[in-house]
Amino acid sequence: MTTFDHLAYIGLGSNLNHPISQIQQALQALHYLPDTRLLTQSSLYRSTPLGPANQPDYINAVAKLQTRLPPVTLLSHLQAIETQQGRIRTGERWGPRTLDLDILLYDLQQSQDPILTLPHPELQHRNFVIYPLYECDPELILPTGQPLQELIQNTSGEGLERIKNEE
Ligand code: ATP
Ligand code: CA
Ligand code: CA
Repeated sequence: MTTFDHLAYIGLGSNLNHPISQIQQALQALHYLPDTRLLTQSSLYRSTPLGPANQPDYINAVAKLQTRLPPVTLLSHLQAIETQQGRIRTGERWGPRTLDLDILLYDLQQSQDPILTLPHPELQHRNFVIYPLYECDPELILPTGQPLQELIQNTSGEGLERIKNEE
C-alpha cells in the first residue's frame, strides 16, 4: 500500500439468471479493474429478498479492494460491470436484478451525497452485508468508530445462509 492507495469494500448481490455465476463473474471483473487489486473475497451467502417478496432469493458476497480510483470513478466502473452483466434498471426499488454492486466503505470517508453515500446507508441494517464483511475483515472499525464485531453481535443471521464451497 502507498499513500495513493485506498481500501474499498464492495457489496455484491444477484437474484436473476444464475446468481452464483453472476457473482463469480463479477468478482472476476473486479479483479480486472484498472489501478485496483482484489485483496479478499468473502464466501457466497444466500439471503431472502428485501422489498417485493415475489422474487427469487439473492446470492450476496463482499469484496475488499485496494484501489487508486477515486470513489466516483470506482462507482462508474461498478455500474459499467452491472450493465455488462445485463442489469436493466426498471425503476422498481429493490426489484430483481442480475447484478448489484454497492460501495459499502471507501477508507473512512463519510458523504451524504445521494449519488454516492458513504458508508452505504443500509450497511448497518443488512445481515447479508455485515456477515460477509466480517468474514473479509473481522477487525474492521466503521467510520463512526463502531467495531464491526460489535455490530455483528447485534445482528441476527435470520434468512441468511453461507453457501458451502462444493455448491
Ligand atoms: P440500495 O442502495 O438500498 O442497496 P439499490 O442498490 O437497489 O438499493 P440502485 O438502484 O442500485 O439501488 O442504485 C441507486 C443509486 O444509488 C445509484 O444510481 C447510485 O448513484 C446511488 N448510490 C448512493 N450511494 C451509493 C453507494 N454507496 N454505492 C452504490 N450506489 C450508491
Ligand atoms: Ca444494493
Ligand atoms: Ca446498488
